[in-house]
Amino acid sequence: MSHPPAGTATPDEPLLAALDIGGTKIAGGLVDTRGTLLHRLQVPTPATGDRHQLMAAVTRVLDDLAGRPEWGRVRALGIGSAGPVDIAEGTVSPVNLPGWRGFPLRAEAAAHPAVGDLPVVLGGDGVAMTAAEHWRGAARPYRNALCLVVSTGVGAGLVLDGRLHTGTTGNAGHLGHISVDFEGRPCPCGSRGCLEGLASGTAIARTATESGWRPGPDGDTTATGVARAAESGDPLALAAFDRAARALAAGIAATATLVELDVAVIGGGVANAGDVLFAPLARHLSSYAALPFTRHLTLAPAHLGTDAGLIGAAALARPSLPISI
Ligand SMILES: [Zn+2]
Repeated sequence: MSHPPAGTATPDEPLLAALDIGGTKIAGGLVDTRGTLLHRLQVPTPATGDRHQLMAAVTRVLDDLAGRPEWGRVRALGIGSAGPVDIAEGTVSPVNLPGWRGFPLRAEAAAHPAVGDLPVVLGGDGVAMTAAEHWRGAARPYRNALCLVVSTGVGAGLVLDGRLHTGTTGNAGHLGHISVDFEGRPCPCGSRGCLEGLASGTAIARTATESGWRPGPDGDTTATGVARAAESGDPLALAAFDRAARALAAGIAATATLVELDVAVIGGGVANAGDVLFAPLARHLSSYAALPFTRHLTLAPAHLGTDAGLIGAAALARPSLPISI
Protein backbone atom coordinates (compact mmCIF):
# COMPACT_ATOMS: atom_id res chain seq x y z
CA MET A 1 0.00 0.00 0.00
CA SER A 2 1.00 3.62 -0.26
CA HIS A 3 0.08 6.64 1.81
CA PRO A 4 -1.31 9.74 0.13
CA PRO A 5 1.29 12.38 -0.54
CA ALA A 6 1.11 15.22 1.99
CA GLY A 7 -1.40 17.86 1.03
CA THR A 8 -3.27 15.86 -1.56
CA ALA A 9 -6.01 14.29 0.54
CA THR A 10 -8.08 15.31 3.53
CA PRO A 11 -9.53 12.89 6.06
CA ASP A 12 -13.14 13.43 4.93
CA GLU A 13 -12.52 13.79 1.22
CA PRO A 14 -14.68 11.44 -0.84
CA LEU A 15 -12.93 8.54 -2.55
CA LEU A 16 -13.64 6.32 -5.53
CA ALA A 17 -13.16 2.57 -5.51
CA ALA A 18 -11.87 1.01 -8.71
CA LEU A 19 -11.64 -2.45 -10.24
CA ASP A 20 -9.55 -3.27 -13.31
CA ILE A 21 -10.38 -6.68 -14.73
CA GLY A 22 -8.09 -8.20 -17.32
CA GLY A 23 -7.05 -11.56 -18.68
CA THR A 24 -4.08 -11.98 -16.35
CA LYS A 25 -4.93 -9.91 -13.27
CA ILE A 26 -7.80 -8.41 -11.36
CA ALA A 27 -6.70 -5.20 -9.66
CA GLY A 28 -8.47 -3.03 -7.13
CA GLY A 29 -7.74 0.43 -5.83
CA LEU A 30 -8.88 3.48 -3.93
CA VAL A 31 -8.54 6.76 -5.79
CA ASP A 32 -9.00 10.29 -4.49
CA THR A 33 -10.85 13.08 -6.28
CA ARG A 34 -7.60 14.30 -7.88
CA GLY A 35 -7.04 10.93 -9.49
CA THR A 36 -4.29 9.86 -7.09
CA LEU A 37 -4.13 6.12 -6.49
CA LEU A 38 -3.99 5.68 -2.68
CA HIS A 39 -4.09 1.91 -2.37
CA ARG A 40 -3.69 -0.88 -4.87
CA LEU A 41 -3.80 -4.66 -4.87
CA GLN A 42 -4.15 -7.36 -7.46
CA VAL A 43 -4.84 -11.06 -7.71
CA PRO A 44 -4.23 -13.38 -10.67
CA THR A 45 -7.26 -13.85 -12.91
CA PRO A 46 -8.43 -17.48 -12.91
CA ALA A 47 -8.74 -17.11 -16.68
CA THR A 48 -9.93 -20.65 -17.33
CA GLY A 49 -12.28 -20.63 -14.34
CA ASP A 50 -16.06 -20.72 -14.50
CA ARG A 51 -18.28 -17.73 -13.79
CA HIS A 52 -18.22 -18.37 -10.03
CA GLN A 53 -14.45 -18.76 -9.79
CA LEU A 54 -13.95 -15.54 -11.72
CA MET A 55 -16.41 -13.65 -9.52
CA ALA A 56 -14.80 -15.11 -6.38
CA ALA A 57 -11.54 -13.42 -7.42
CA VAL A 58 -13.37 -10.09 -7.84
CA THR A 59 -14.98 -10.57 -4.42
CA ARG A 60 -11.55 -11.14 -2.84
CA VAL A 61 -10.38 -7.81 -4.21
CA LEU A 62 -13.55 -6.05 -3.02
CA ASP A 63 -13.16 -7.67 0.42
CA ASP A 64 -9.66 -6.21 0.68
CA LEU A 65 -10.79 -2.73 -0.35
CA ALA A 66 -13.76 -2.84 2.00
CA GLY A 67 -11.42 -3.74 4.85
CA ARG A 68 -9.41 -0.55 4.44
CA PRO A 69 -10.04 2.22 6.98
CA GLU A 70 -10.70 4.64 4.09
CA TRP A 71 -13.61 2.55 2.76
CA GLY A 72 -16.11 4.68 4.68
CA ARG A 73 -15.24 7.61 2.41
CA VAL A 74 -15.89 5.69 -0.81
CA ARG A 75 -18.80 7.21 -2.73
CA ALA A 76 -18.84 5.19 -5.95
CA LEU A 77 -17.31 2.10 -7.56
CA GLY A 78 -15.94 2.14 -11.10
CA ILE A 79 -15.17 -1.06 -13.00
CA GLY A 80 -13.07 -1.28 -16.15
CA SER A 81 -13.20 -4.70 -17.78
CA ALA A 82 -11.69 -6.48 -20.73
CA GLY A 83 -14.30 -6.45 -23.45
CA PRO A 84 -16.60 -6.67 -25.09
CA VAL A 85 -18.78 -5.07 -22.43
CA ASP A 86 -22.38 -3.96 -22.53
CA ILE A 87 -22.81 -0.97 -20.26
CA ALA A 88 -26.50 -0.72 -21.10
CA GLU A 89 -27.06 -4.24 -19.72
CA GLY A 90 -24.21 -4.13 -17.17
CA THR A 91 -22.68 -7.29 -18.59
CA VAL A 92 -19.23 -8.39 -19.77
CA SER A 93 -18.08 -11.10 -22.21
CA PRO A 94 -14.27 -10.79 -22.20
CA VAL A 95 -12.76 -12.60 -25.18
CA ASN A 96 -10.02 -14.14 -23.04
CA LEU A 97 -12.29 -15.13 -20.11
CA PRO A 98 -14.60 -17.78 -21.59
CA GLY A 99 -16.28 -18.36 -18.22
CA TRP A 100 -17.97 -14.98 -18.53
CA ARG A 101 -20.41 -14.60 -21.42
CA GLY A 102 -23.07 -11.98 -20.86
CA PHE A 103 -22.00 -12.04 -17.19
CA PRO A 104 -23.89 -9.47 -15.06
CA LEU A 105 -20.74 -8.02 -13.51
CA ARG A 106 -22.29 -4.70 -12.51
CA ALA A 107 -25.12 -6.35 -10.57
CA GLU A 108 -22.80 -8.97 -9.03
CA ALA A 109 -20.38 -6.28 -7.82
CA ALA A 110 -23.28 -4.20 -6.51
CA ALA A 111 -24.43 -7.22 -4.50
CA HIS A 112 -21.20 -7.24 -2.47
CA PRO A 113 -22.28 -6.40 1.10
CA ALA A 114 -19.80 -3.54 1.43
CA VAL A 115 -20.92 -1.89 -1.81
CA GLY A 116 -24.44 -1.37 -0.52
CA ASP A 117 -26.06 1.64 -2.14
CA LEU A 118 -22.93 2.96 -3.86
CA PRO A 119 -23.34 3.75 -7.55
CA VAL A 120 -21.51 1.13 -9.65
CA VAL A 121 -20.31 2.21 -13.10
CA LEU A 122 -19.03 -0.27 -15.68
CA GLY A 123 -16.89 0.42 -18.74
CA GLY A 124 -14.52 -1.28 -21.15
CA ASP A 125 -10.80 -1.22 -20.44
CA GLY A 126 -9.94 0.84 -23.53
CA VAL A 127 -12.50 3.47 -22.59
CA ALA A 128 -11.26 3.40 -18.98
CA MET A 129 -7.66 3.99 -20.09
CA THR A 130 -8.90 6.87 -22.22
CA ALA A 131 -10.77 8.36 -19.26
CA ALA A 132 -7.59 8.09 -17.19
CA GLU A 133 -5.36 9.75 -19.75
CA HIS A 134 -7.89 12.55 -20.21
CA TRP A 135 -8.27 13.09 -16.45
CA ARG A 136 -4.65 12.82 -15.36
CA GLY A 137 -2.45 11.94 -18.31
CA ALA A 138 -1.26 12.80 -21.79
CA ALA A 139 -4.71 13.66 -23.21
CA ARG A 140 -5.49 16.17 -20.46
CA PRO A 141 -4.91 19.38 -22.44
CA TYR A 142 -7.01 18.23 -25.39
CA ARG A 143 -10.73 18.25 -26.26
CA ASN A 144 -10.60 15.56 -28.95
CA ALA A 145 -8.44 12.54 -28.24
CA LEU A 146 -7.97 8.98 -29.34
CA CYS A 147 -6.20 6.85 -26.73
CA LEU A 148 -4.82 3.45 -27.68
CA VAL A 149 -3.52 0.51 -25.69
CA VAL A 150 -1.20 -1.53 -27.89
CA SER A 151 -0.25 -4.73 -26.10
CA THR A 152 -1.35 -8.33 -26.76
CA GLY A 153 -4.36 -6.72 -28.45
CA VAL A 154 -5.20 -3.18 -29.53
CA GLY A 155 -7.83 -1.33 -27.47
CA ALA A 156 -8.84 2.29 -27.72
CA GLY A 157 -11.30 4.95 -26.68
CA LEU A 158 -12.38 8.44 -27.67
CA VAL A 159 -12.81 11.81 -26.03
CA LEU A 160 -14.94 14.07 -28.23
CA ASP A 161 -15.53 17.72 -27.48
CA GLY A 162 -14.09 17.26 -24.00
CA ARG A 163 -16.29 14.32 -23.04
CA LEU A 164 -15.64 10.59 -22.92
CA HIS A 165 -17.55 8.97 -25.79
CA THR A 166 -18.61 5.48 -24.70
CA GLY A 167 -21.28 4.58 -27.25
CA THR A 168 -24.51 2.88 -26.20
CA THR A 169 -22.91 -0.40 -25.17
CA GLY A 170 -19.56 1.06 -24.10
CA ASN A 171 -17.45 -0.14 -27.01
CA ALA A 172 -17.08 3.03 -29.08
CA GLY A 173 -13.60 3.74 -30.37
CA HIS A 174 -12.63 0.09 -30.59
CA LEU A 175 -9.96 0.79 -33.19
CA GLY A 176 -8.38 -2.66 -32.95
CA HIS A 177 -11.22 -4.12 -35.00
CA ILE A 178 -11.35 -1.62 -37.80
CA SER A 179 -10.18 -3.21 -41.05
CA VAL A 180 -7.11 -1.57 -42.54
CA ASP A 181 -6.39 -4.38 -45.01
CA PHE A 182 -9.28 -5.58 -47.19
CA GLU A 183 -7.38 -8.67 -48.34
CA GLY A 184 -5.90 -9.35 -44.91
CA ARG A 185 -6.14 -12.33 -42.60
CA PRO A 186 -9.48 -13.36 -41.13
CA CYS A 187 -9.78 -11.92 -37.63
CA PRO A 188 -11.26 -13.84 -34.66
CA CYS A 189 -13.89 -11.07 -34.48
CA GLY A 190 -15.32 -12.23 -37.83
CA SER A 191 -13.92 -9.43 -39.97
CA ARG A 192 -10.73 -9.38 -42.03
CA GLY A 193 -7.52 -7.39 -41.94
CA CYS A 194 -8.24 -5.81 -38.54
CA LEU A 195 -5.73 -3.33 -37.11
CA GLU A 196 -5.18 -5.59 -34.09
CA GLY A 197 -4.05 -8.44 -36.34
CA LEU A 198 -1.33 -6.20 -37.79
CA ALA A 199 -0.26 -3.95 -34.92
CA SER A 200 -0.61 -5.84 -31.62
CA GLY A 201 2.45 -7.19 -29.86
CA THR A 202 1.34 -10.65 -30.88
CA ALA A 203 1.15 -9.55 -34.52
CA ILE A 204 4.57 -7.87 -34.42
CA ALA A 205 6.16 -11.05 -33.07
CA ARG A 206 4.42 -13.13 -35.74
CA THR A 207 5.36 -10.76 -38.57
CA ALA A 208 9.00 -10.86 -37.48
CA THR A 209 9.12 -14.63 -37.11
CA GLU A 210 7.39 -15.24 -40.44
CA SER A 211 9.89 -12.99 -42.19
CA GLY A 212 12.78 -15.08 -40.90
CA TRP A 213 13.78 -13.05 -37.86
CA ARG A 214 15.29 -15.09 -35.05
CA PRO A 215 15.76 -13.94 -31.44
CA GLY A 216 19.09 -13.28 -29.80
CA PRO A 217 20.71 -15.42 -27.09
CA ASP A 218 17.87 -14.66 -24.64
CA GLY A 219 15.43 -16.51 -26.92
CA ASP A 220 12.78 -13.79 -26.48
CA THR A 221 10.43 -14.12 -29.47
CA THR A 222 7.85 -11.65 -28.11
CA ALA A 223 7.41 -8.09 -29.36
CA THR A 224 9.80 -7.02 -26.58
CA GLY A 225 12.49 -9.20 -28.12
CA VAL A 226 11.68 -7.83 -31.58
CA ALA A 227 11.88 -4.27 -30.19
CA ARG A 228 15.29 -4.95 -28.71
CA ALA A 229 16.54 -6.30 -32.03
CA ALA A 230 15.06 -3.31 -33.86
CA GLU A 231 16.88 -0.94 -31.50
CA SER A 232 20.15 -2.54 -32.50
CA GLY A 233 19.30 -2.14 -36.18
CA ASP A 234 18.07 -5.62 -37.18
CA PRO A 235 16.34 -4.98 -40.52
CA LEU A 236 13.70 -7.73 -40.13
CA ALA A 237 12.77 -6.49 -36.65
CA LEU A 238 12.62 -2.92 -37.93
CA ALA A 239 10.38 -4.07 -40.78
CA ALA A 240 7.97 -5.78 -38.35
CA PHE A 241 7.62 -2.57 -36.33
CA ASP A 242 7.29 -0.52 -39.50
CA ARG A 243 4.36 -2.67 -40.65
CA ALA A 244 2.62 -2.35 -37.27
CA ALA A 245 3.25 1.40 -37.23
CA ARG A 246 1.80 1.71 -40.73
CA ALA A 247 -1.38 -0.08 -39.68
CA LEU A 248 -1.69 2.12 -36.58
CA ALA A 249 -1.11 5.23 -38.69
CA ALA A 250 -3.88 4.20 -41.09
CA GLY A 251 -6.31 3.67 -38.20
CA ILE A 252 -5.38 6.89 -36.44
CA ALA A 253 -5.57 8.90 -39.68
CA ALA A 254 -9.00 7.43 -40.45
CA THR A 255 -10.22 8.42 -36.99
CA ALA A 256 -8.76 11.90 -37.32
CA THR A 257 -10.51 12.31 -40.65
CA LEU A 258 -13.79 11.10 -39.16
CA VAL A 259 -13.94 13.15 -35.96
CA GLU A 260 -11.06 15.72 -36.09
CA LEU A 261 -8.58 14.65 -33.43
CA ASP A 262 -6.19 16.91 -31.51
CA VAL A 263 -4.09 14.06 -30.09
CA ALA A 264 -3.50 10.33 -30.36
CA VAL A 265 -2.12 8.88 -27.13
CA ILE A 266 -0.39 5.51 -27.37
CA GLY A 267 0.11 3.28 -24.34
CA GLY A 268 0.51 -0.42 -23.61
CA GLY A 269 3.56 -2.65 -23.65
CA VAL A 270 4.32 -2.16 -27.35
CA ALA A 271 4.51 1.63 -26.84
CA ASN A 272 7.40 0.98 -24.43
CA ALA A 273 9.47 0.33 -27.57
CA GLY A 274 9.69 4.14 -27.82
CA ASP A 275 11.23 5.45 -31.02
CA VAL A 276 11.20 1.99 -32.56
CA LEU A 277 7.43 2.44 -32.77
CA PHE A 278 6.93 6.20 -32.63
CA ALA A 279 9.40 7.14 -35.40
CA PRO A 280 7.78 5.02 -38.15
CA LEU A 281 4.35 5.87 -36.74
CA ALA A 282 4.96 9.60 -37.16
CA ARG A 283 6.37 9.04 -40.63
CA HIS A 284 3.41 6.96 -41.83
CA LEU A 285 0.92 9.25 -40.15
CA SER A 286 2.28 12.19 -42.12
CA SER A 287 1.44 10.35 -45.34
CA TYR A 288 -1.96 8.94 -44.30
CA ALA A 289 -3.29 11.99 -42.45
CA ALA A 290 -3.16 14.04 -45.60
CA LEU A 291 -6.06 16.46 -45.38
CA PRO A 292 -5.27 19.86 -43.86
CA PHE A 293 -7.58 19.45 -40.86
CA THR A 294 -5.79 16.23 -39.82
CA ARG A 295 -2.24 17.52 -40.04
CA HIS A 296 -2.01 19.24 -36.66
CA LEU A 297 -2.61 15.95 -34.85
CA THR A 298 -0.17 15.38 -31.95
CA LEU A 299 1.22 11.92 -31.17
CA ALA A 300 1.97 11.35 -27.49
CA PRO A 301 3.04 8.40 -25.35
CA ALA A 302 0.61 7.57 -22.51
CA HIS A 303 1.61 8.89 -19.08
CA LEU A 304 -0.08 6.59 -16.61
CA GLY A 305 1.33 3.16 -17.42
CA THR A 306 -0.05 0.26 -15.45
CA ASP A 307 -2.08 2.54 -13.15
CA ALA A 308 -4.22 3.74 -16.06
CA GLY A 309 -6.69 0.87 -15.63
CA LEU A 310 -7.52 1.71 -12.01
CA ILE A 311 -7.43 5.48 -12.39
CA GLY A 312 -9.62 5.07 -15.48
CA ALA A 313 -12.12 2.86 -13.66
CA ALA A 314 -12.34 5.56 -10.99
CA ALA A 315 -12.74 8.19 -13.70
CA LEU A 316 -15.73 6.29 -15.08
CA ALA A 317 -17.41 6.56 -11.67
CA ARG A 318 -16.61 10.25 -11.14
CA PRO A 319 -19.77 11.64 -12.74
CA SER A 320 -21.88 9.64 -10.29
CA LEU A 321 -20.46 11.51 -7.29
CA PRO A 322 -22.97 13.84 -5.65
CA ILE A 323 -20.59 16.78 -5.85
CA SER A 324 -18.81 18.19 -8.85
CA ILE A 325 -15.12 17.34 -8.74
ZN1 LIG B 1 -11.26 -8.01 -35.80
